[in-house]
Amino acid sequence: PAADHAPALVIGSGYGAAVAALRLARAGVRTVVLEMGRLWETPGPDGKVFCRTIAPDHRSMWFRTRTEAPLATFLWLDVVNRNISPYPGVLDRIDYGDMAVYVGRGVGGGSLVNGGMAVTPPRSYFSEVLPQVDADAMYGTYFPRARSALGVNSIDRAWFESTPWYRYSRVSRAHAARAGIGTVFVPNVYDFDHMRREAAGTAPKSALAGEVLYGNNHGKRSLDKTYLAAALATGLVTVETLSRVRAVRPHARGHVVTVERLDLRGRVRATDEITTSRLFLGAGSLGTTELLLRARETGALPDLSPEVGRGWGHNGNVMAARANHVWDPVGARQSTMPVLGIDDWNNPTHPVFAEVAPLPMGLEHWISLYLAITKNPERGHFVYDAVRDRARLRWSRDQNGPSVAAARSLFGRLNRVNGTVYRHDLFGGNRAIADDFTYHPLGGCVLGRATDLYGRVRGHRGIYVVDGSLIPGSLGVNPFVTITALAERNMERIIREDVLRD
Ligand code: FAD
Repeated sequence: PAADHAPALVIGSGYGAAVAALRLARAGVRTVVLEMGRLWETPGPDGKVFCRTIAPDHRSMWFRTRTEAPLATFLWLDVVNRNISPYPGVLDRIDYGDMAVYVGRGVGGGSLVNGGMAVTPPRSYFSEVLPQVDADAMYGTYFPRARSALGVNSIDRAWFESTPWYRYSRVSRAHAARAGIGTVFVPNVYDFDHMRREAAGTAPKSALAGEVLYGNNHGKRSLDKTYLAAALATGLVTVETLSRVRAVRPHARGHVVTVERLDLRGRVRATDEITTSRLFLGAGSLGTTELLLRARETGALPDLSPEVGRGWGHNGNVMAARANHVWDPVGARQSTMPVLGIDDWNNPTHPVFAEVAPLPMGLEHWISLYLAITKNPERGHFVYDAVRDRARLRWSRDQNGPSVAAARSLFGRLNRVNGTVYRHDLFGGNRAIADDFTYHPLGGCVLGRATDLYGRVRGHRGIYVVDGSLIPGSLGVNPFVTITALAERNMERIIREDVLRD
């Protein structure tokens, strides 16, 4: 049964939300977390919590009859996707026409499905993106705090150099080196000691069993194991699952939210209202922006800034794949946790930071796969569709132009120097570069525009944005460490100045 009043209410349970819940609880504030997805801790009939990436079942995706994996085809055959029965699965794909966005659903948000890459952005680019934020404090205090609480660790270099599981990364490193481009190791939240035990056969396999995207059964320090576990351990936090927030409006005690309680078939079995003195929005770039946009456009929160819904970007995400020579195998065995990035970010015309991504198909395929993060100045915005009561993203395919040009510049060089070619059969539509989806939605309620410099929503007191919607569309690296660190910074201030002052 729902509490009808919560001193603090957090919507969502991803990175920003998890930080908010922990810091509020540590400050002694009773906090309710509302998450539309389920809690992922009960094993299914196969004894596992999550299904396998290459054999997805109902647990894979959010209310679908067929999976929609980012790599849809192989040799132009749709061998990857499966028919499934609708269920609150862990991965969702939200389609906006020219751009689709993948997000996690469940207690832990994106941390359940992502690749665990825990990258701190180069300080110079962070300062370019968020000049209003004190970089000394971020790099001296909040990034280290976030990395420590997230359980970030690094692969052992000697093991990396020798294990068959990272041959695919070493091959891409050699190809980049031939083009005169450097690579960097990237830390991860996957427990590398566990991974080595997987390789040795002394621990159950997860990263070495192809698991990613639809959840990891072992090894990964997702938020339910870190921030959220610590928050629950205070005894002051309650997490209510299958609880989707639809609306927010003012109330004598602060604000009231309307929550739809879902059943496992996606039907709304009850609609509740919960009042709160402090409302923290951590529903992610799309979720938070939609809630505030709906509230402004329906007149529920009329004084919200016109900036709500603006400043959205996809972190310049594009994917590409190269076909290597038969004498240059990438390995049938591949760890799903990326540990290497091709770092061409200082390229004056086409900056790219390209994660060397795994393609664990259990057979040798000679493919090098990349998730390229590019510097794309284009921004999208959201409009409210009153008929369907949802936000629509205004983003056109031609806005990907700078990203595609940058990726082509980097991978074209790699192909020329190594005598290799693009693979056209992986993304559908015979394309070499996939520019129609992203893993890194950012912005929509940008810090210092839709909110003040700490995420306090402009126009309505007592509402705070704590997630990736604060970051204006581009970060240059994978975003979750920055989302976490920024939430740490903002929550520290909000608790001191707003919460404890009551
Ligand atoms: P999220 O983590 O998206 O959390 C939002 C939560 O709110 C979700 O649980 C959602 O179900 C819930 N929610 C939404 N709307 C509502 C509502 N109305 N009511 C109730 N609950 C709601 N980043 C990296 O840094 N490194 C990586 O290696 C990496 N790999 C990725 C791989 C994949 C496949 C994907 C999809 C993402 C990856 N990312 C990676 C991105 C990263 O996961 C996101 O940037 C991050 O999760 C965003 O955090 P957030 O706090 O903004 O929101």
